[in-house]
Amino acid sequence: MDLNIRGRRALVTGADSGIGFATVQLLLAEGATVVMTDHDPDKLTHAVDKLSELDNRPYAFAADVTDPAAIERLAQQVGDEVGDLDILINVAGIHGEGGLFHEISQEGWDHTLDVDLMGPVRVTRAFLPGLRRGGWGRLVFVSSEDAVQPYDDELPYCAAKAGLLSLAKGLSRTYASEGLLVNTVSPAFIATPMTDEMMNERAESLGVTCDEAIASFLREERPFMELGRRGQPEEVAHVIAFLCSDAASFVNGSNYRVDSGSVATI
Ligand code: NAP
Repeated sequence: MDLNIRGRRALVTGADSGIGFATVQLLLAEGATVVMTDHDPDKLTHAVDKLSELDNRPYAFAADVTDPAAIERLAQQVGDEVGDLDILINVAGIHGEGGLFHEISQEGWDHTLDVDLMGPVRVTRAFLPGLRRGGWGRLVFVSSEDAVQPYDDELPYCAAKAGLLSLAKGLSRTYASEGLLVNTVSPAFIATPMTDEMMNERAESLGVTCDEAIASFLREERPFMELGRRGQPEEVAHVIAFLCSDAASFVNGSNYRVDSGSVATI
């Protein structure tokens, strides 16, 4: 399917790793002009180096989504060097502090909500004026299965991701008439550094190998993931890219689950 996004200007947050990096690769292959942003300048440079063989090279600017001044600078740099965006994809996120409600610190709550909910709010606020000028736009927020199926040992993450669903749905009402379509993608258990870290911790606490930790996690904690494996970042990126395309011209205010059935409800 031709996504028809050749030359469209896209910015991806959380772009040097996991789902963000896979999305960057796919958009570049589709001929989009891609701006990568993430908060660690060295990791960002390393990710850009991995794309050095491509004719279609990305732009890259480091910025921390919790830092309002850095996001303002990012918007200025992108405006000066790339121009107004057509596509904004909010991927950056953290799992944050885990544990039962009474075990989680105030700082754990503040930081998780700051990165996972207020980060996308800041980035969207900074780029919205340019997106509105274009008259054609796509905004995608990466939420999580946890938004609608909360796990009681990761409530700050669940609450932040549920907030993103609400934010995106509200934005989809305001700007559709201007040509901006807003949707969310909600993955579950994708093979990225985020879940590698979770599985390494699980392996250590159970005294098993990482593969055994993954198998027991799927069996005990994610019984409705019917495909019985972790997803690949590319499997999420394909859905994100579709939502950024002309092919998704009648899709607005939706939440696409990419979770192998993990969310138990219809
Ligand atoms: P990942 O590889 O860890 O990617 C997340 C990226 O966000 C990392 O590059 C990370 O940088 C960056 N980031 C963290 N804090 C940031 C900040 N303050 N400012 C800017 N960038 C920041 O994990 P992933 O699995 O691809 O996650 C991507 C998104 O998918 C996240 O929003 C996550 O919640 C969501 N998600 C993932 C899964 C899954 O199973 N993997 C499931 C549901 C939802 P550093 O690594 O350098 O800190």
